[in-house]
Amino acid sequence: MKQSPSPTPDPDLAASRLRAAGLRSTRQRKALAALLFDSVGQECRHVTAEALHTEAVKAGIQVSLATVYNTLHQFTLAGLLREVVVDAGPSCFDTNTRDHHHLYNEDTGELTDLPARRIRITGLPRLPAAAEVSRVDVFVRVRRRTK
Ligand SMILES: [Zn+2]
Repeated sequence: MKQSPSPTPDPDLAASRLRAAGLRSTRQRKALAALLFDSVGQECRHVTAEALHTEAVKAGIQVSLATVYNTLHQFTLAGLLREVVVDAGPSCFDTNTRDHHHLYNEDTGELTDLPARRIRITGLPRLPAAAEVSRVDVFVRVRRRTK
């Protein structure tokens, strides 16, 4: 029988991930961490709070949308996730916290990772004396060809 790519919650793995990030390991945090990071067949993911909430409910996890929002922001502050804002829509949370850029499909809203080494950035403007570059985010926006 073919195994579906359903989440395989591993409370021990999720708990140790939370501890390593300095977060207290609550039941809901462990369940959401398992969904985000430990699903079979998942590499890096870009999820909105709404999508993760839907996924959690389907997996039988009792959690409110507000708790999902709060947890995603706590995970981001702890360095487990990176928040990605493309347009005025809902934030996306990225499980890939390494240096990278994104391909953004304007037709579907899909985000795909682009390795940082695939894009060369030159000519950054002079920065204010007290400032340093923390990160440069590049979004390559694509859409279906019209011709
Ligand atoms: Zn990404």
